[in-house]
Amino acid sequence: MREALRKAQESCAAGCVPVGALIVFEGKILIKAHNNEGASHIPPTLQHAEFLVALEACCLLKTDRLGKCDLYVTLEPCPFCAAILRHLCIRKVFFGAYDPKGGGLVHHGTPQERPPFTGGLLETESAELLRRFFQAKR
Ligand SMILES: [Zn+2]
Repeated sequence: MREALRKAQESCAAGCVPVGALIVFEGKILIKAHNNEGASHIPPTLQHAEFLVALEACCLLKTDRLGKCDLYVTLEPCPFCAAILRHLCIRKVFFGAYDPKGGGLVHHGTPQERPPFTGGLLETESAELLRRFFQAKR
């Protein structure tokens, strides 16, 4: 989770919304990314950190099932990412800050429609990073 937070901080430095994510496979970090790390001209939702690492993990592992992978992300995934992660059968999602407005896990769908998750890891640090970023934007 610390590594995901570090990735989010890099995101800040790059001027992107500070959300970092990574995938752990067999006890090791397989891939890391922050928001908007992909090419430009791609809709922002498709550049969410958790979406990017999930896609990349599928490519690296040459599979469309991530049942042996855990995903760490500093912000609660949106409904779109939550659905994708569910489809990819990710083992578990660990996230930092809760997103009461845009989150797709805690207040969204039924347990069958979302991946297993635990929220609130390094919640304060993750949320603070986002708060400062958007404050600076105003
Ligand atoms: Zn998303």
